[in-house]
Amino acid sequence: MSSGCALRVVHDHDPVDLGAAEVAAEQFLLALGISLDSEGIRATPGRMARAYAELLTARPFDLTTFPNDEGYDELVLARSIPLRSVCEHHLLPFVGVAHVGYLPGDRILGLSKLARVVEHFAHRPQVQERLTKQVADWLADQLHAKGVGVVIEAEHFCMTLRGVQAVGSSTVTSSVLGTLRQDARSRAEFFALSGITA
Ligand code: ZN
Repeated sequence: MSSGCALRVVHDHDPVDLGAAEVAAEQFLLALGISLDSEGIRATPGRMARAYAELLTARPFDLTTFPNDEGYDELVLARSIPLRSVCEHHLLPFVGVAHVGYLPGDRILGLSKLARVVEHFAHRPQVQERLTKQVADWLADQLHAKGVGVVIEAEHFCMTLRGVQAVGSSTVTSSVLGTLRQDARSRAEFFALSGITA
């Protein structure tokens, strides 16, 4: 049995002040002309504060990696990882899926951890392009993988709720590094397995 090596990954932003966020949410709603008198909406500022705090704070996790003792050198791909993030331009959600793959080098990791890495970078104000690249760069750094590929398909509520785009339209971004970038066949295999046709 190989021994694992764990890295504690924690969120790196300033502490959350829920009370201040609730007061600000109340002021925000009042400024938009929304009365907070009725029973259903009275506690909404507190709920808004807690909901955004949750969306913008990633849960800590341990990135456990293992030596690649068997010398596995084929693509490892986690498909359709659910993704929820918040666009930094409007603070509205964007939701979709991420496909994350890598060509192992010296170390491999548990598949569920790929989802945790996506969650880690998604729980902050984001733009989809940067999120895609951050996940790929971080995995390349941590795993010393021969190649890393990340594809994200997401629907942005700031677009689909405001009339310019039809509901259901999605934005696709990708970041491929190392062998997956340089070698045409590996690259094509990654995109084919991700369900993206070039
Ligand atoms: Zn936006």
